[in-house]
Amino acid sequence: MPRSVYQQFVKGYTEKQWGVAATSLESALARRFEVRHDGDIRLSKHKYQGLPIDGYHFWMQKMLAGIPVFLEHDYLSERDVYRARKMLIFTGPIDEYFGYKYGRLRYRGQKRLHRYFTDVQQYQPGVQVNYPDIDTGPHIRIIEWKHLMPAGSRIFKGTLTTNETPYDPLDPNDFEYPFPDCTNRAVYNLYKAEVVKQDRLLICGRLGEYRYLDMDQAIGRALHLSKDL
Ligand SMILES: Cc1cc2nc3c(=O)[nH]c(=O)nc-3n(C[C@H](O)[C@H](O)[C@H](O)COP(=O)(O)OP(=O)(O)OC[C@H]3O[C@@H](n4cnc5c(N)ncnc54)[C@H](O)[C@@H]3O)c2cc1C
Repeated sequence: MPRSVYQQFVKGYTEKQWGVAATSLESALARRFEVRHDGDIRLSKHKYQGLPIDGYHFWMQKMLAGIPVFLEHDYLSERDVYRARKMLIFTGPIDEYFGYKYGRLRYRGQKRLHRYFTDVQQYQPGVQVNYPDIDTGPHIRIIEWKHLMPAGSRIFKGTLTTNETPYDPLDPNDFEYPFPDCTNRAVYNLYKAEVVKQDRLLICGRLGEYRYLDMDQAIGRALHLSKDL
């Protein structure tokens, strides 16, 4: 990409997001940025784009109808309670599954500050405004949720925003983004080699395969893996 685009938009954002020099990260990360001249303001150019009509919650609920679901159970602290008859599919952090025996993988998370403005109808011009410049503060972006709603349903008073600030979480519940560098990739490969040795175990998903997946990719990957099984 042109150096001026990199300097203005990418370098600061990347360094706030990961907390390290951009040059120390995997170069594949650069593929997430596109420089375009066609005036299309959409992030991705997929033919079909959108959110499930009633939200992901209802979509998931419909998909799980008739399947027993137990919430608020940490499988890793109850391994003896649940026994897999055919195969165990684990979608949590792969390093946590193996008790961090090869060391901890690094993850980034976001601290979120929600603010409700009673007397502001619109806080910013779009759903997400990025703050790549370190001088604007530690937060990396501000989300204004009402932009995601169909225009006709934005009839409530005020607006809700969320400031997001990246940090290094230690609690697995806060792991959001696998760290894209060679050191962590090498540690991940050690854990992956352990999984391959066991034929009744599948560790998958964003935390299991230690790679960032967008929703469409996560769904595509799940369909692909289930077809294989
Ligand atoms: C901050 C953030 C913003 C995102 N924004 C977007 C976006 O705008 N657009 C987009 O397309 N994608 C976005 N994504 C990506 C999308 O959310 C993920 O791709 C998707 O959720 C991955 O699905 P998954 O099933 O692999 O993992 P997850 O959704 O993380 O599911 C893993 C599941 O495993 C459970 N689990 C973990 N450990 C245990 C345990 N020990 N015992 C029992 N259960 C356990 C967790 O509770 C969780 O339910 C975003 C992700 C993050 C983190």
